[in-house]
Amino acid sequence: MSFLSLGLAPSLLRALDNQNYIHPYPIQKEAIPAILNRKDILGIAKTGSGKTASYVLPILMNCQGINVSKNRHINVLVLVPTRELAVQVREVFHLFGSELPKRVKSMAVYGGVSINPQMIALQGVNILVATPGRLLELVNSNAVHLSCIDTLVLDEADKMLNLGFEDEMKRILALLPTKRQNLLFSATLSDNVENIHQLFLHNPVIIKIDAEDDNIELISQSAYFVSDENKGPLLRYLIKSKDLKQVLVFTSSVYKADNVVDKLRKNGIVALAIHSKRSQNARTTALAKFKTGKISVLVATDLLSRGIDIEFLPYVINYELPRSPKDYIHRIGRTGRAESPGEAISFITPDDKDHFRVIQKKMGKWVTMIDSEAMDLI
Ligand code: AMP
Repeated sequence: MSFLSLGLAPSLLRALDNQNYIHPYPIQKEAIPAILNRKDILGIAKTGSGKTASYVLPILMNCQGINVSKNRHINVLVLVPTRELAVQVREVFHLFGSELPKRVKSMAVYGGVSINPQMIALQGVNILVATPGRLLELVNSNAVHLSCIDTLVLDEADKMLNLGFEDEMKRILALLPTKRQNLLFSATLSDNVENIHQLFLHNPVIIKIDAEDDNIELISQSAYFVSDENKGPLLRYLIKSKDLKQVLVFTSSVYKADNVVDKLRKNGIVALAIHSKRSQNARTTALAKFKTGKISVLVATDLLSRGIDIEFLPYVINYELPRSPKDYIHRIGRTGRAESPGEAISFITPDDKDHFRVIQKKMGKWVTMIDSEAMDLI
């Protein structure tokens, strides 16, 4: 099946072609025609499934019928849990919208950066991608109005609820016109998400895609038994011996992330950390440098394990294991995406052994174990 049969405009087909999107992913096959038909959607799909394009493309098409946004009344609102995801989703709108005959202006707003430039730039915006807290600030300052919205997207709704955005979400929903199209995407259908779904979806088309579980098959996984003191040397050894050019290293704490970066730097490996204690600008710069290959190692806390798409990320290293098996799957899901294979490596200390067994059991896959003891790490 090609994108041609999904009812998209020729300019979007050209943009898809430019991006080398040849065949629609399963979620796109189902969601694009339904969204074009103005149906509500409940999409249970994780990052890696192609869910962003599944709503961006038909929304851009539907926007071709609307007039230029006036007096800061936006037409489409996409709510996302994190700043990084806001930037990323907006990039996809921009990427595919650039060739449309009728210009559609999109913008991302999020906290952690000055509000004034965002207030100014909001003039004439049709599609707004926002984190909930900053959106409410902008609404309260009359920088944006939500009463003309005809499409609402909640992306990563489960994460939004887990991060405690429920009140903000309800306050935002109360400001929207009742007649509108609603698209809800969530990695899981938790009780919380179920409540939100009951609250605002009307006869939704339900699409369930187990993309990340499928992805696991694409990822080659291994684990090294290693003592705590030898983790640093093992990381350097792997980076150097495998000549790793783009590797995302996960730690469990902010302190550890900074510490790993320091040690790598002292050993001549250029790395940056990205976590909640770094400013938004520092995070954006680090991610951009990593994406463009200016630095080869990015050290992150779980802030990054969801939602961020880095094309062709070949390696993920769990310097420290996450607490939940779900987070493990999200972390390694950074690799092996978009049908390109990847490798995930985990460091297992004697204290981690039982926990790692639980993770493997939950994942339904056993990972090759390598003992680092006999390795010449220095
Ligand atoms: P997402 O789940 O939206 O984060 O998308 C995951 C990755 O798949 C991104 O790198 C997209 O650019 C890529 N992608 C999405 N749909 C397609 C497609 N139909 N063909 C090729 N790549 C795609």
